[in-house]
Amino acid sequence: MPNPVTTAEIAAAIRNVPDFPKPGIQFKDITPVLADARLFAGTIDLLTENFSPGEIDAVVGIDARGFIFAAAAALKLEAGFVPVRKKGKLPHTTHEEDYALEYGHATIAMHIDALKPGARVLLIDDLLATGGTAAAAVSLVKKLGAEILEVNFLIELKFLDGRAKLKDLPIRSLVTY
Ligand code: AMP
Repeated sequence: MPNPVTTAEIAAAIRNVPDFPKPGIQFKDITPVLADARLFAGTIDLLTENFSPGEIDAVVGIDARGFIFAAAAALKLEAGFVPVRKKGKLPHTTHEEDYALEYGHATIAMHIDALKPGARVLLIDDLLATGGTAAAAVSLVKKLGAEILEVNFLIELKFLDGRAKLKDLPIRSLVTY
């Protein structure tokens, strides 16, 4: 794939779906990005560009769209993949965090032995809105004593100022609204 993918190309492929899953929400649909082999690979290249294999121990992905990007990034970085899941889905003992969403409330969970203390973590989700989900995931990673090197999003809704909830962490987003 000779031409590097630009963030403008990714932005052009993201589909805005008004009033999903409820009135007033402008849902950012990333499935057209995933369906395009070049865009998907280029997105993973951009999300991982600050690191080389060996520099990250685990890529943590957030349920559910975050898994897609985090798992692919983990393969590229030769790192493990660790899921942060919605409450009640992980089979082993978990740590849990409650948080508020742009639409609703939720609890996320991570296995208590998912990360070793001091593990170097790249945290990835598809979209940063109010920051509640990512902040809860950060708390879970920190509970295990791991170190977050970067928090990456495909999309950031700047007007919701989710970054304010992720103070002191390096945050990157590829496409902003
Ligand atoms: P928040 O906790 O408010 O930052 O919400 C982020 C989470 O909710 C991410 O996991 C997103 O997948 C999802 N999300 C929130 N708002 C949207 C949106 N407008 N379009 C697509 N996904 C969204």
